[in-house]
Formats: sequence, C-alpha cells, structure tokens
Amino acid sequence: MLNIVLFGPPGAGKGTQSKMLIEKFKLIHLSTGDILRNEIKNKTSLGLQAKELMDHGKLVPDDVVINMIKSILKKNLNSNGFIFDGFPRTKEQALSLDQLLENQDTSISAMISLKVEDEELIKRLLERGKDSGRADDQSTEIIANRIEEYNNKTAPLKLYYNEQKKLHEISGLGSISKITSRLNLVINSL
Ligand code: ADP
Repeated sequence: MLNIVLFGPPGAGKGTQSKMLIEKFKLIHLSTGDILRNEIKNKTSLGLQAKELMDHGKLVPDDVVINMIKSILKKNLNSNGFIFDGFPRTKEQALSLDQLLENQDTSISAMISLKVEDEELIKRLLERGKDSGRADDQSTEIIANRIEEYNNKTAPLKLYYNEQKKLHEISGLGSISKITSRLNLVINSL
C-alpha cells in the first residue's frame, strides 16, 4: 500500500493537493477535518462535541479522531493506500496510526510536508473564509489559534517521521499544478 501523510499548517493546501493525488495514485482520501464537518452537518453527538472546539481553532480530543480513523481504515483495506490529510496531528495520533497500520501489515510510506509562511497562510484562510462558510476561517484570532495549535502540538511530528527517514519537505508556494508536480516527484522516488 502507498500510505502518505500530507502534512503542513492550516491553509498550506493539503486538501487541494489531496484531490490531485487520489486521482493519480488511486488512493483513499482521509481528511479528519472533512469527516468532523460532516458529523457537525448531520448533528451527530460526535459532531456536537467537536463543533465548539473546531470553531475556536482548538484540536478535537485524540480518542475521538483515532476512533474515526479506525473505522474508515477497516472499511478500505483492499485499496491501493491512503492520503492522510490533517491526521495525525499529535504524537498520540501518530503512534496509534502506526499501530493500526502495523496490525494490517502495512505502514506509512512517507510524510510530505508543505512549507508556507504564516503571513501567506492567514491571507489564504481569510480569502477561503469568504465562501467556505467555515467559522474557523472567519477571524484572524481563530486562525492564529489554529497556527499556534499546529506549532505546539503538530509540527513536532516532523521529528517523529524524520527519525524514521520518512520526512520530505517541499515548498507550498506557487501554482497548484507546480506543487502537484513537486509531490509527484517525491512519491515517484519512494
Ligand atoms: P485546516 O488544516 O485548514 O486547519 P482541517 O479541516 O484539517 O483544516 O481541520 C479543521 C479543524 O478540525 C481543526 O482546527 C481541529 O479542530 C479539527 N481537527 C481536524 N483534524 C484533527 C485531528 N487529527 N486532531 C484533532 N483535531 C482535528
């Protein structure tokens, strides 16, 4: 299986690039943010629990997202692999993911991290907020919370994957197709 962790701060372009990669490499897109927003839309108890935290740019508890991932992995074991978008976001999540994959005799192939500086992220997210309707895209304060959560809890995961020689860092600046080419280069070199 080809299992890619597509990594980077909010607004780095993980969702956009995931769409290109799942087409080309026939992978399953697993975005915990999309799944959570769907739970909110369907007013499930999980959605109600997550909404408050998400609207403030805070991470949802590890056990909640890990359980979501577990059930989706189980249903797609015959696929070519997965693009993990927005997951793992903490060390706890990364350890659980490794364990879940190991139970299925597979593992993470690579983490590809998109590098974009804060100023550009804020600009992109505010722009997206004009039509995304996402509460967490509406104010610079909430966006700052998300970037802070990323820097404190999520960015350190680069070290975790680097120790396993799985980290690949590329620039997230430039046209969408340019960034897709950079990602293709990395994946084809695996
Ligand atoms: P972005 O990358 O733009 O922040 P996401 O859709 O990945 O967008 O995430 C939106 C929000 O959903 C996060 O701010 C967080 O509250 C919640 N969330 C998504 N994935 C996770 C995760 N793996 N762990 C904890 N919270 C998550």
